Amino acid sequence: MKRLTAIVPCFNEEEVLPLFYKEIMRVAKCMEKDVEFEVLFVNDGSKDGTLQVIKELHEKDKRVRYFSFSRNFGKEAAMYCGLEHATGDYVAILDADLQHPPEMLIEMYNGIVKEGFDCVAARRVSREGEPKIRSFFSRKFYHVLAKLSQIEVVEGEVDFRLMTRQMVDAVLQMSERNRFTKGILSWVGFKTKWIPYHNVERAAGQTKWSFWKLLMYSMEGIIGFSTAPLAISSIIGLIFCALSFLAIVYIVIKTLIWGDPTSGWPSLACMILMVSGIQLFCMGILGQYLGKTYIEVKHRPIYLVHVSDEDQDQKTEFKATDTEQDGMDTK
Ligand code: UDP
Ligand code: MG
Repeated sequence: MKRLTAIVPCFNEEEVLPLFYKEIMRVAKCMEKDVEFEVLFVNDGSKDGTLQVIKELHEKDKRVRYFSFSRNFGKEAAMYCGLEHATGDYVAILDADLQHPPEMLIEMYNGIVKEGFDCVAARRVSREGEPKIRSFFSRKFYHVLAKLSQIEVVEGEVDFRLMTRQMVDAVLQMSERNRFTKGILSWVGFKTKWIPYHNVERAAGQTKWSFWKLLMYSMEGIIGFSTAPLAISSIIGLIFCALSFLAIVYIVIKTLIWGDPTSGWPSLACMILMVSGIQLFCMGILGQYLGKTYIEVKHRPIYLVHVSDEDQDQKTEFKATDTEQDGMDTK
């Protein structure tokens, strides 16, 4: 029988996990004729009781597996860990907060099996329950990303999708440290079907993404998948060279014809300020690429696992043999 792995990154989700588990197992029951389920929680260094909740779920249901990080490595690292350890023939990624309705997995599965797609992904068509300003910047970001790179991120794309094993293996070949999964998924290609859905509010708990975190994430996307900013900075440099050349010609001619004593130093000061500003800005762009390259060449692990379900199973096995031996001693 084929297996479907659902990867669920979790960061401080203790409140919502029991609800999530109930919901995904309801879906697993609906699909039990077609696939068996494996739910792979990746605890991304939660500070609350998330790990405890997951351990209890694993204790009573062996379809639940987990990996728990030594600290918070971010959702991207959690998704990568999930993909690396998923054993399914089909692999899904979805959020723990029920904003990605697990029942959509049924439709996604049909898209792959019956319609022959390699990947079925969800696309948010409404952004209710989200601050207007966030939606605005988000939309602008994807617009800029599409312009600057060959990466096509579909409007409203979220990290909720079901993929075939072949596509997962392709994604795993991209082991870069600066991860931008939406870009990676678009880069590997394959036939993707988009299913629209309406945004729902979190079932419980709070969002982990601040505006700043999202801004950093978007920089990751642009720098990771496009070298256009480098080209743009050289073009800006060229334009300013040309402008200054024209200005010099103008000033020389003006001085030769009319003669001109030293005037205009305020404009000179402004120009120096502006040009040095642009230089710093372009150096900053260069620095961003250099920094990312620096991180990349260090080849540090993307995440570190502290405990996993296997450790838990081993421990219980250990305990079981221990008590057996104790029994022998007393005889
Ligand atoms: N998440 C994570 N690590 C982080 C931040 C978030 O694993 O550092 C998980 C989180 O537990 C949730 C998913 O990523 O399952 C999406 O996070 P959230 O719901 O906070 O984001 P939003 O839906 O507001 O974009
Ligand atoms: Mg959410």
